[in-house]
Amino acid sequence: MQKPVIYLDHAATTYVKPEVFEAMKPYFVEEYGNASSLYSVGRSNRKAVEEARATIARCLGANEPGEIYFTGSGTEADNWAIKGSVLAARKKGGKHIITSAIEHPAIMETCKFLKKEGFDVTYLPVDSEGFVDPADVEKAIRPDTIIVSIMYANNEIGTIQPIKAIGEITKKHGVLFHCDAVQAAGSIPIDVKDLGVDMLSISGHKFYGPKGIGALYIRKGVRLENLIHGGHQERGKRPGTENVPGIIGMAKALELAVADMEQYTGKIRQLRDKAMNLIMERIPHVKLNGPVENRLPGNLNISFRFIEGESLLLMLDMKGIKASSGSACSSGSLDPSHVLMAIGLSHEIAHGSLRMSFGDHNTEGEVDYLVDSLEEIVTRLRSMSPLYEDFIKANK
Ligand SMILES: *Cc1c(COP(=O)(O)O)cnc(C)c1O
Repeated sequence: MQKPVIYLDHAATTYVKPEVFEAMKPYFVEEYGNASSLYSVGRSNRKAVEEARATIARCLGANEPGEIYFTGSGTEADNWAIKGSVLAARKKGGKHIITSAIEHPAIMETCKFLKKEGFDVTYLPVDSEGFVDPADVEKAIRPDTIIVSIMYANNEIGTIQPIKAIGEITKKHGVLFHCDAVQAAGSIPIDVKDLGVDMLSISGHKFYGPKGIGALYIRKGVRLENLIHGGHQERGKRPGTENVPGIIGMAKALELAVADMEQYTGKIRQLRDKAMNLIMERIPHVKLNGPVENRLPGNLNISFRFIEGESLLLMLDMKGIKASSGSACSSGSLDPSHVLMAIGLSHEIAHGSLRMSFGDHNTEGEVDYLVDSLEEIVTRLRSMSPLYEDFIKANK
């Protein structure tokens, strides 16, 4: 029998939808003129880029297309929001950044770098399900606070943060508010005005668009220093010849995602819930990481006690199942995930965690196969575990 391939890592990246690829194709081979040139192919590229900008602005609820700036990734958008605003505010005595303990490395590492450069960083704790308390944001604000950066939804455990409540607080105190919405875009409706954010990051490849293209919404009136210096593209704020196919593809993908969101999230939520319920029913000594309510519809993160996450992943891979341990960004390192540590897991339990993120093509049959495989593999791994043997003896 040919081995099936079951992709359960949509939080790490997704494939490009055929309609998105079709929309991008002409801009590689035929319509290759430089979008900033004056000849006609250049002008048609310019028009396509500006239409894409307007589409993204509309999908995010921005006031005007000019508030959308294209970047090379979600990581770049995150870096720019924070570095750009602290560099702009430094002259006025700003020194302090507030973020959470469970942000993506694009935020965590940026803050670590800025701390080395002399800025102060407060990492707000989260509760056992990964929620930031808006009251903690308010308590942390100081006269020299420049920016608060809190993600919309967590990439490892799916927690959806109370962004609107935090936005009310930052507004009241006159502090900038950036939101990393890279996981949220395509899975949760986003309205930047309703959320009260000043900046918001998205990335094409997380919602069935291409890789290597992101965008930062910057509310009109917010001043950021450049991260990149060069020509006049993106009104001189983010120079570099435009990634025209990427921009077109990201806009098309976001437009499709927004139009289809209810059906899509309904489907992946159902698959996720089925997997969650079956795993809980059939496999003992497991723990759900992250909340039940206010959770990304496609995210499932479960710790299997007495199991090494890496062995579990490898054995799942042999059965054709592609999932992730904790987070793709920290796999390859032996440190337990900073997110699982922040919600209070022990090292042992954090190490046995598995992230499954569901998407468009997954089926009920795949969920059944996943649960059967997990049950078999977990039983086999536990039968070889001295820790498990001790546990069973102690609990006889
Ligand atoms: C994937 C991801 C990023 C980084 O986006 P890239 O486009 O891959 O650089 C940032 N934040 C979150 C929450 C993510 O999931």
